[in-house]
Amino acid sequence: MRKLVGGLLVLLLIGGVYWWYAVDARPPADASYEFDLAQIRTLADALPGDKPAAARYEKVSAYVFPEAMVMAGGSWRTVDIPIYAYQLVYAGKTVMIDSAFDRSLAKPDFMVPFFDDAAYARVERALGKAALIVITHEHPDHLGGLARHAQLATILPNVKLTDTQIADAKALAAAGLPADALKDYAPLHYDRYTAVAPGVVLVAAPGHTPGSQMVYVQLADHRELLFLGDVAWQMRNIVQLRERPRWVTDWIIDEDRRAVSAELQTLHALRETAPGLRLVPGHDGAAIDALTRAGVLQAGFTE
Ligand SMILES: [Zn+2]
Repeated sequence: MRKLVGGLLVLLLIGGVYWWYAVDARPPADASYEFDLAQIRTLADALPGDKPAAARYEKVSAYVFPEAMVMAGGSWRTVDIPIYAYQLVYAGKTVMIDSAFDRSLAKPDFMVPFFDDAAYARVERALGKAALIVITHEHPDHLGGLARHAQLATILPNVKLTDTQIADAKALAAAGLPADALKDYAPLHYDRYTAVAPGVVLVAAPGHTPGSQMVYVQLADHRELLFLGDVAWQMRNIVQLRERPRWVTDWIIDEDRRAVSAELQTLHALRETAPGLRLVPGHDGAAIDALTRAGVLQAGFTE
């Protein structure tokens, strides 16, 4: 009898630990994240000039993760985690959002089974000629292509990295940025929102990393996109209101889950209150495909 009770207690303990680290997705009751869409739309009109005619993307690589790593309570079947860079096409200029990463950072293996050298070459060329480059956050799969670019010194005057993004030397080094690359660099500082180009507004969203930001884009035809960076890897995080599990946020990526959970709640609500605002998660092939079919995103950069 004693053995049976002891065994049951051990099972309960294991179950409890598993639930806490892999399943629990309850959002913190008192965390909140404000997203003032009216103010953001005003800022999108603040800079003179035409808004972008198109938003394009390149898919450079993909991780393969179990869904249980993407979302608390997810299954252990694997899902693709594609890696993209985005290009906003204006009349006569382009703006880049994120830069993916090169083959040396991707290190193709069983968790990175796909790397498209031709797509990456197009990203490199697009970075080289962009009038402006912004990065959603300081992780290698977003910053790496810029950090390791052969013409980094020439490109840097067109790059708006924020003060919080460049504060973490360890993250910059992991993304392949040469140690002295930013020694004379004046980073961007802003509090909540800032307009950086006609139709383009940066929205601070610290949590996944300290320097995480979302990028609001209003196209010339008034359609609206919100590039989420890795606030949500996939739409399932927003639709089901499920953050990444604690074993990922606490043990692997060191994320502020309280902040991210609040951001997910706000994005979840935005789907009802602003259905025209298309959310673009960091690594969601199905979401990107749907936006492509809707004609809001277009596959492949312009040369
Ligand atoms: Zn990412």
